[in-house]
Amino acid sequence: MAALLTIRKREQALNARLDHLNPLVFDTHELGRRPGALRKVTRSVPAPKDFGIAGVIGAPEGAPVALDLRLESVMEGVLVTGTARASAEGECVRCLEPLSQEVAADFQEMFSYHESDSRGRVRAEPADDAEGEDEDRLYVEDGLFDLEPVLRDAVVLALPMQPVCRETCAGLCSTCGIRLDENPDHHHDAVDIRWAALQGLAETVKDGEKDNMGGAEAGVDEKQEK
Ligand SMILES: [Zn+2]
Ligand SMILES: [Zn+2]
Repeated sequence: MAALLTIRKREQALNARLDHLNPLVFDTHELGRRPGALRKVTRSVPAPKDFGIAGVIGAPEGAPVALDLRLESVMEGVLVTGTARASAEGECVRCLEPLSQEVAADFQEMFSYHESDSRGRVRAEPADDAEGEDEDRLYVEDGLFDLEPVLRDAVVLALPMQPVCRETCAGLCSTCGIRLDENPDHHHDAVDIRWAALQGLAETVKDGEKDNMGGAEAGVDEKQEK
């Protein structure tokens, strides 16, 4: 979770001034400030870059993400509840085949009004700076809010850390790497360490017999008996 918060902070810093043309930035002007006011928004947005679990599974950049949002005006800001649906792509952790799966991520987030906005004046700075506006909180900026960090967190949590092409995927043969689902009868003759020792012994006996018959390689025989 610490990593998520770091990403969030970075994005907030980058988005100090929100771009209303960004499809993940939403306008709350129509909603208004009257507590209890409600607005539903349905929007399809292109997936931002790195949307998912890096190197594991995620929606490709630009792929459609269907958003169903409920914006609710409350005293301290705008409460956003919603669902994001997208098709994520990755590979099976067992057999490494490409896979795609639908993901539906639910989220709820509060976008607060800055103190100066909600009271029409700048709040006196508290003595303790840590008591100031919380870095991890998200804010409505000029009537806009950026859903991207919320979406990212929700989608990461909704995706499997270890995606499989199907629950029963048998993975790969640990000896040769062949895909077992496609080769159900695949196996290797077990080369047991005890068996290997027996094989070695059999060869020694054979060599001994040969030596006895020839009678010329006594030196070799002695070495093997030690
Ligand atoms: Zn698989
Ligand atoms: Zn094999």
